[in-house]
Amino acid sequence: MKPKPVTGKLPPLFVATLAMVGVALHVLLPQTITARAIAPASSAVITSTVAPRNVILFIGDGMGAEQVRAAGMYQNGSAGTLVMESFPYSSTMTTYSADSAITDSAAGATAMATGQKVKNGVLSVAIPGDGSELETLLERFHRYCKRAGLVTTTYATHATPAAFGAHEGSRADTTYIAADYLTQTKPDVLFGGGANGLSPVNAAAAGYTVVLNRAEMQALAPPLTGRVSGQFGVTHLPYEYDDASGYATLPHLSEMVSATLRLLENAPNGFFLMVEGGRIDHAGHDNNIARNVFETLEFDHAVEVAYTWASARTDTLIIVTADHETGGLTVIANNGAGNFPTVTWASTGHTATPVPVYAWGVNAELAAQVTDNTDIHALALAGLTGTPACTPGSTRLVTLRSDTRQIGQLILVSVTIGVGAYSLLEARSRPVPR
Ligand SMILES: [Zn+2]
Repeated sequence: MKPKPVTGKLPPLFVATLAMVGVALHVLLPQTITARAIAPASSAVITSTVAPRNVILFIGDGMGAEQVRAAGMYQNGSAGTLVMESFPYSSTMTTYSADSAITDSAAGATAMATGQKVKNGVLSVAIPGDGSELETLLERFHRYCKRAGLVTTTYATHATPAAFGAHEGSRADTTYIAADYLTQTKPDVLFGGGANGLSPVNAAAAGYTVVLNRAEMQALAPPLTGRVSGQFGVTHLPYEYDDASGYATLPHLSEMVSATLRLLENAPNGFFLMVEGGRIDHAGHDNNIARNVFETLEFDHAVEVAYTWASARTDTLIIVTADHETGGLTVIANNGAGNFPTVTWASTGHTATPVPVYAWGVNAELAAQVTDNTDIHALALAGLTGTPACTPGSTRLVTLRSDTRQIGQLILVSVTIGVGAYSLLEARSRPVPR
């Protein structure tokens, strides 16, 4: 679904012709593109009479239960010893998407961000459905006058944060994802790798303070009054295992979390923060246990930073989970602290294995009811009541974009039917989403 590039590149007459063909097909084949509601995937009813002031959602991309076990064995000599595993409530949840038993990060994060299942590759728009924008946790909390942050070790426009801060039919549209961040959803803190649609120039033009390294990030003085974009390097942050020199000037995930909490902790109505350990997944795709363990340990260190901060308070919910498992990892033998466990991998892609959920703080006990990734949305919002008092930051382009998207969908249906064989071939040649 790339309505904007299609309308931008094709001659108007050609577009009009395709649109007419699309309208005709819409009349002839209504069942193929008629909007249909996506039923909630879980029967769990997660409600509360109290709401946390702050909600912190940690997502280990590709972090299944075996990844967690392996990291505990390496660090402490036994499984069950990570900080996230010390949280008092836990569960496991399914992660399937609207079109596949095996989700990608876009659909997995969209399920958590919006409570709705979408097709793989889709970022918080109703596909299947009418393509309309699905309100994300970031947007919901903004409407309740809370501040919001997105922090990741991937580049900042990557699929997981994008599901919380963008509405796009394709995770590949990083330029539009960046535009959604900067001019529509406006996360107050946006920390991750740079480039890929973001630049210091376009962030500054949107009113963001831009920081490019650890020193600049740590020099930010709370309270945060405007918005800040941390663009650390020009792609994903380095693997923790590989590259000590890569972190000479760039911040570790735990440092990004520490800085973010310092900036947001005095927000008048609290905050929502999504933190992704994004490269556990990449190491899983490569079946690299050393990188996988080190990424998981830094992720757990970031959880520890948040837990240490929150444990002095009584107003915060911390949820730790994953979007899916990657690699089909199984731990065969524990080789003691400081040694990587013996493992097998069953895949170089994602799997349908249910993933762990850990929770601490206000409403954490409700995590025991979580059975599916869509339940994370309900858990994060439990207890939030009353009328939203803050309006979204901007109405720019929202109407125009919806219109464009609908026209784009009609065009896409036309093109898809007209060159179906080509589309299939192209889809098969596409690399597996990471
Ligand atoms: Zn992946």
